[in-house]
Amino acid sequence: MDETSAKRPAGYEDVCRRIAAAEEAADRPAGSVTLVAVSKTHEADAILPVIEAGQRVFGENKVQESQAKWPALKERFPDIELHLIGPLQSNKAGDAVALFDVIESVDREKIARELAKEMKKQGRAPRLYVQVNTGEEPQKAGIAPQEAAAFVARCRDEYGLSIEGLMCIPPADENPGPHFALLAKIAKEAGLEKLSMGMSGDFETAIAFGATSVRVGSAIFGARDYG
Ligand SMILES: *Cc1c(COP(=O)(O)O)cnc(C)c1O
Repeated sequence: MDETSAKRPAGYEDVCRRIAAAEEAADRPAGSVTLVAVSKTHEADAILPVIEAGQRVFGENKVQESQAKWPALKERFPDIELHLIGPLQSNKAGDAVALFDVIESVDREKIARELAKEMKKQGRAPRLYVQVNTGEEPQKAGIAPQEAAAFVARCRDEYGLSIEGLMCIPPADENPGPHFALLAKIAKEAGLEKLSMGMSGDFETAIAFGATSVRVGSAIFGARDYG
């Protein structure tokens, strides 16, 4: 029996295959979409097989939880790229700058200011995305669509922050396509190339609308237990 292939996680393999198929269906080059494997709530022993299968880009939504599990994994696998995809509190900006390689959830002026301050202090420059609240949901983080371009410009002009792309989480109960299209349109107008959009339930649709990265958790790691 081939032990290596026996250990390759089935959910992970399946998601990689589906991303490749969606790239092809959208006439996009193979490998043009980055998979951000969302490992929130899962312990290192669940994450390790996915790392060992070759995955290097991971997403977490909480700074504290990430501090508990990622420094040791990053030491073992120095080429891991860790993304913060959840809301950032300003008092955690320093911790986030120290640990994450990409922060996808820049969503207000105060966070931009704190990140700029910490990046200067620490001499570290995580890549940054602005989160856009495409559904304008009151309970959801993110800049309103009509304010996004001006906010990106302010990040640059006021705080010296280079924004690489946009991120969105469409409303759970709506067809995601129009939200992905809106994010792509705002990015284009703002001159940004990167689009972080699409989760387990809709990443193929997101790829059709131009996602450059998809954030997939449960389809890889199984259902989360918040108990
Ligand atoms: C949890 C989470 C995901 C992954 O969700 P799944 O449905 O498990 O794929 C993606 N993006 C964000 C911002 C998340 O918090």
